[in-house]
Amino acid sequence: MKNNFPLSGFSSVALHAANNSNNAYAHSTPIYATSTFVFDNAQQGMERFESEDKEKIYSRWSNPTFKVAEETIAAFEAFNIKTNNGNTIQLKALLHASGQAAMTTMFLSCLQVGDTVLSHYSLYGGTYELMYKVLRQAGINIEIVNFKNLNEVEDRIKQNKTIKFIHIETPANPTIQCVDIEAISTLAKQFNIKVSVDNTFATPYLQQPFQFGVDFVLHSTTKFLNGHGTSIGGVLLGSDIDFMKQKVWKWFALLGGNANAFDAFMLINGMKTLELRMERHCSNAKQVASFMQQHHAIAQVNYNGLESHVDYALTLKQMKHAGALLSFELKGGIESGKKFIDNLKMCTRAVSLGTVDTLVSHPASMTHYSVPKEERIKFGITDGLIRVSIGIENVEDILNDFDQALHSV
Ligand SMILES: *Cc1c(COP(=O)(O)O)cnc(C)c1O
Repeated sequence: MKNNFPLSGFSSVALHAANNSNNAYAHSTPIYATSTFVFDNAQQGMERFESEDKEKIYSRWSNPTFKVAEETIAAFEAFNIKTNNGNTIQLKALLHASGQAAMTTMFLSCLQVGDTVLSHYSLYGGTYELMYKVLRQAGINIEIVNFKNLNEVEDRIKQNKTIKFIHIETPANPTIQCVDIEAISTLAKQFNIKVSVDNTFATPYLQQPFQFGVDFVLHSTTKFLNGHGTSIGGVLLGSDIDFMKQKVWKWFALLGGNANAFDAFMLINGMKTLELRMERHCSNAKQVASFMQQHHAIAQVNYNGLESHVDYALTLKQMKHAGALLSFELKGGIESGKKFIDNLKMCTRAVSLGTVDTLVSHPASMTHYSVPKEERIKFGITDGLIRVSIGIENVEDILNDFDQALHSV
């Protein structure tokens, strides 16, 4: 931490945790658009290669702009989590070109031919495809179970000794279902199984999985961390620093999924307002969910901040607020869903999530188009489901837009 000054609040961490000093005394983090780095002499070059950090050598390995983003996200995920001796936990982050790249580095550096990944329904579409297409072809097996049934999870683990890794996504698309991170992590530890959490929907402001002893956290930084929809990016964090610096870093460098300096710069700027944005995103989402729940044209609202949601209690346990994602089913099914989307006047019709403006999409025909229908239904993605990522507009305008769009469905 900079100057050893104890930062007590999340936004202070966002602004000051990373070491932003640079030779030009630039106040903003410089965009180090460089592939390679200069050595003063042969000795210095040798020392950089020998060091664990592999810094200032080649940008596929590390780059000073990435480093500011990595230090900030590591400080977010570690914020106020103490080890037994009272120190803040140490984490190592690696910035990637996308969430998918971060996940690829994680899976391939941790798994071998014949190993099995255990996961649950409701995964992000790209995660599901990565598992079933890429990992399977690489000789890694996938098992999907209902993580709400801990006995079933334990039975599977006992029956299948090849299960080496558990991947959790919580909250998850599209019904905003949550997984009990502490329960799964505790169970996994008994069997020496590594656990990762995709924390994209929650962000470290709302949920810090390392508090429950997980091994890895990953984000698509494309979403709330960047917050403005200006770049694709991903980050992988781990709590075993040696493993991260050796094996995981090696796979990261060899797979070539590194970020670039411009996108890292956009991410750094976006993260400065993460707390402010998340507070607004979440309070707007809560109001929109309550409004939708009472509307006569709506059959069902899925929002984990509503008492009617199956994971309301779990949300209170492991999240600061319920988040900014919700979905709903119109009484009129798919035709009404299309009309609703077409009627919107202010909110944006687009896939993705976590941008400052409200995004509305139709999972069955968009994000989960490539997931087979029978699988999609298990994920809760019915034909008429609408997914919304609530933005930071003034909430009256979101409510007015939704209200007018619902009139003629
Ligand atoms: C978007 C997303 C990803 C993939 O991230 P990209 O940056 O698009 O590669 C993974 N997981 C979740 C939950 C996401 O929302």
